[in-house]
Amino acid sequence: RRRRPAAPCPAVPAVILLLQEAIPQHFWCIPFSVDGNPAPSVRWLFNGSALAEGPYIHTRIVEYEHNSTVLHGCLQLNRPTHVNNGNYTLLVRNALGSAARTVQGRFMDNPFSFNPEDSLQGPVETPDEHAFGVSVAVALAVCACFFLSVTLIALNKCGRRSKFGINRKPPSLPRPQGCGSPSGGVHHVQRRDIVLKWELGEGAFGKVFLAECYNLLPEQEKMLVAVKALKEATESARLDFQREAELLTVLQHEHIVRFYGVCTDGEPLVMVFEYMKHGDLNRFLRSHGPDAKILDEGKGQPCGQLTLSHMLQIATQIASGMVYLASLHFVHRDLATRNCLVGHDLVVKIGDFGMSRDIYSTDYYRVGGRTMLPIRWMPPESILYRKFTTESDIWSFGVVLWEIFTYGKQPWYQLSNTEAIECITQGRELERPRTCPSEVYDIMQSCWQREPQQRQGIRELHSRLQALVKTPPVYLDILG
Ligand code: ADP
Repeated sequence: RRRRPAAPCPAVPAVILLLQEAIPQHFWCIPFSVDGNPAPSVRWLFNGSALAEGPYIHTRIVEYEHNSTVLHGCLQLNRPTHVNNGNYTLLVRNALGSAARTVQGRFMDNPFSFNPEDSLQGPVETPDEHAFGVSVAVALAVCACFFLSVTLIALNKCGRRSKFGINRKPPSLPRPQGCGSPSGGVHHVQRRDIVLKWELGEGAFGKVFLAECYNLLPEQEKMLVAVKALKEATESARLDFQREAELLTVLQHEHIVRFYGVCTDGEPLVMVFEYMKHGDLNRFLRSHGPDAKILDEGKGQPCGQLTLSHMLQIATQIASGMVYLASLHFVHRDLATRNCLVGHDLVVKIGDFGMSRDIYSTDYYRVGGRTMLPIRWMPPESILYRKFTTESDIWSFGVVLWEIFTYGKQPWYQLSNTEAIECITQGRELERPRTCPSEVYDIMQSCWQREPQQRQGIRELHSRLQALVKTPPVYLDILG
């Protein structure tokens, strides 16, 4: 993402020349200088976990040194508070090497001592208006239920355009099962029941926040949720939001992120999802890759590199979610690790059907005007003819496997978008990752058959992965 134009030789492994404590400027800045040719990728961990960059925290390259490959930059923080206090680890990497260094950031003392993890367990205070809130919510849900039953049926009948995909063929949706049923109408959450905590990330449609939500589930008075706020509430955005919510309400599976409902009384419009505490899978893989050792030092607790067994478990869970989507004839179109989320105990779910293009903008290729395509995950027929099918999702699933076994590398990272398009359409395959046993590479290759009908079905792929989880192949990484 932050690559400068191709630098002259000689090749230099990625190194960190400087990393200093934060300086209060117009924005706070954690200054750093790095060197490397080819230009290294620059990433951050915050307290050992991948740092989700967004408008409030992001890397800014300040200066490319003249006639050299050295560059100077800042991790820029806009109005940081006590939640931003902690260890910031800079990770740089290029084809020749990688480096990591940590600095402590201290911006503000904690004005109140609240640990968000605590609210996952234990009783908490309920707001006074609880009972009133519940009855209003029920009344609203009844109205919404009727309205949504009508729109769901309409949704079944016509194609739709939303972040789920352009002109997607509607899946065969189960019929709404009456009011109050979770698979019926969209559930409505009262705004006063949502207490925002802080930003988790930013997606194509707006910001994602961690929040506490009251009265959501009968067994818990208060729980942590991820709240997606719609950035602009134009008429068409509202319509997309509504359709999105209807579809999400229908998609219910243990490996699809759980959707709790919407909050539409006032602005902004928000969607409420289960909170997946390890964030997106791509960042998770990167922070549990070969650089994981430094995490151990930073946090003082073991959280090393993912093993073959972990990788197989991750892959099998995504395959399970895909089996479900395929059973609904739902074509995802953008399956990639950045669109999966990781929760407690290595639970992985397909968590985003849209395109998190702000953070991962280099994963997409802009074709004319506004269309952005994740070409590195797409099969030849999608690139050449924009044909998206269950079979094209299978190709992407093979690429997801490759991402998992490379600890989150970008497919064809060594190539530009146009070069990647050329390679894919000419039939070149991604190489076997170093930590990948041949049994797993075989699975990847059965996803990458040029002829869509020749690709293995997702059910079979899922079974093959399940079998490997039970009896992992013996693999010796002789190079490592
Ligand atoms: P959009 O769908 O609008 O493109 P995303 O779903 O990509 O937004 O969300 C952006 C980022 O927010 C993700 O990369 C992830 O880090 C974080 N995020 C999204 N949903 C959750 C969730 N349920 N739990 C935890 N973090 C989340």
